[in-house]
Amino acid sequence: MLTVDNINVYYGAIHALKGISVEVTEGEIVTLIGANGAGKSTILRTISGLLKPKSGKIVFEGKEIGGMAAQNIVSLGISQVPEGRRVFANMSVMENLELGAYIRSDKKEIQQDLNKIFERFPRLAERRSQLAGTLSGGEQQMLAMGRALMSRPRLLLLDEPSMGLAPLLVKEIFSIVQEINSTGTTVLLVEQNAHMALSIAHKAYVLETGRITLSGSAKELAASEDVRKAYLGG
Ligand code: ATP
Repeated sequence: MLTVDNINVYYGAIHALKGISVEVTEGEIVTLIGANGAGKSTILRTISGLLKPKSGKIVFEGKEIGGMAAQNIVSLGISQVPEGRRVFANMSVMENLELGAYIRSDKKEIQQDLNKIFERFPRLAERRSQLAGTLSGGEQQMLAMGRALMSRPRLLLLDEPSMGLAPLLVKEIFSIVQEINSTGTTVLLVEQNAHMALSIAHKAYVLETGRITLSGSAKELAASEDVRKAYLGG
């Protein structure tokens, strides 16, 4: 579905991604794990069109999307939930969700999708008129995911959904990610919580300072001595 082929990405003089290749097959949950600053978010931002690769290719469903404008990439079926949620604080839950559907004009189906989101996230339904900035961290994460789903993505990019959440909520968020995947959305998940990420993913890549150092099935990586030592606390 998505092939990232040998991309190099820079922030000015900083060489953030050094020949990264990642393959995402339709139906999977693929996770990118690694320490702070390894380049995980940079990979997602490049796929979603917020950054341009200096070289290399990104092909989504047969189309080269590397360097394409972000809104065109959303229209092709890729949606990103950014790190730190970035909900529109001064808008209501409902308005945030409606904005997620800005590329669509099918009013009736948008309404149906809103109802589905409220079924999946009952806490958002109860708070539909509340200002997003006053939601708890977990609720904001749910809203950010709901907003991304409103564009009907076939590939969902999730950047550290567990960040700053209590363990019980982390579990809840991960089980929602699994459910979203099982209803047909392919997921590329960036996480620092390697334990949780490997427990739900099919495939995983380990990143260190802009390079992929290990990859394989999530099961294999969870069992690997190197991964256990570096990312799973021994
Ligand atoms: P984290 O989990 O801390 O977000 P990450 O693996 O997602 O880490 P990135 O955010 O992709 O890492 O950062 C990769 C490298 O690029 C880091 O060295 C970081 O300092 C650098 N970097 C990220 N954003 C910028 C920017 N806007 N300008 C300059 N350098 C940046």
